[in-house]
Order: sequence, then C-alpha cells, then structure tokens
Amino acid sequence: MKSMKTTTSRISIVTDPCAKCGCQIAPARREALPHTSTCVKCSDAKAYVGFMDWGHKTAPEIVMVNPDDRENLRRAQAINERRR
Ligand SMILES: [Zn+2]
Repeated sequence: MKSMKTTTSRISIVTDPCAKCGCQIAPARREALPHTSTCVKCSDAKAYVGFMDWGHKTAPEIVMVNPDDRENLRRAQAINERRR
C-alpha cells in the first residue's frame, strides 16, 4: 500500500488548524506563509501598504511598506509623486 503522506516538490505544508480559533487555515494562506500558525482573522500582523515603483522603464516594482513605518511610508509617497 502506498504511503498516505504527501509533500509538494517545493515545500511541505503543515496542515494544523489555527492555533487560536482552531479553524482550518486557507490553503492559499498556507502556501504564502508555510510557517503561519493562525488563520487570517486571528493573525495580529498588520496590513501593509503597497505601491508601484516605476524605477525601471520596463518593469515596475511593487513595494510593500508597514503603515507604522512612517519614514518608509514618506519615501514611498515621495517616489509616487515623482513618477507622475
Ligand atoms: Zn483563527
């Protein structure tokens, strides 16, 4: 009989339920954050602010900034103003 254990070629994904509420963590979240122990609702991580940096003519870059990081947020806004 074949083993029931499955792993992907890239990374093995833990399938434990959320450590706080016990619900199942969405597969997409598992894939993005393989070591997370909480679901989206229970996560205490803050949402980041993203913006496009058109520093290269052919390929813009998505820059993610923590909204509490005022220095980088200011830089992000300055870059954004310059590109317009
Ligand atoms: Zn949860």
